[in-house]
Amino acid sequence: MLLIFQEMKKFYLTTAIDYINDVIHLGHGYQKVIADVLARYHRLLGEEVFFLTGADEHGFKAQEAARKAAVSPQAFADKITTANKEQLKSLNIAYDRYIRTSDQDHQKMVQEFFKKVEKNGDIYLADFEGIYCSGCEEYKTESDLVDGHCPFHPRLPLQKLKEKNYFFAWSKRKIERFEGVALILFYFLAVLAVFNL
Ligand SMILES: [Zn+2]
Repeated sequence: MLLIFQEMKKFYLTTAIDYINDVIHLGHGYQKVIADVLARYHRLLGEEVFFLTGADEHGFKAQEAARKAAVSPQAFADKITTANKEQLKSLNIAYDRYIRTSDQDHQKMVQEFFKKVEKNGDIYLADFEGIYCSGCEEYKTESDLVDGHCPFHPRLPLQKLKEKNYFFAWSKRKIERFEGVALILFYFLAVLAVFNL
């Protein structure tokens, strides 16, 4: 997924940040090349471009890969990052920053954000139980499954996990969500009106 934010003559884009259970491959490379093309195009337009890519170093897959390699998760993450940067160099990807979730400034920002949201009373701790695919690093619903397996990892056994999780109190945000939907509807109707559709 690419996220793009544009404002005045500044252009910011980020690729997904990749899990570090292995070195990035051609599939990741495809996304990086597309992002690089966009970044280069906006640089040519004279805009101030910030192109971010990086690694998500937290997760069960990373922990498992480090355990199998018999090194600490940080040492494993360091090794993958070095290899990933080589891959990006070989594709001539001109990114501005390779962010790692173990970077000090990243951790500080996440903690500040979390504290702020928690202070607003939007975060609560509760039990969560579900079917987990370690390949996707996410919970699946029954309707996601094909013949009782994850469609992307049909040979990987699914786990039934119960864990304490932090939740975001969406229920408190109903009004804002409703306003968002109303706004989209308004724009949609406005477009129809403008083009006489
Ligand atoms: Zn999966």
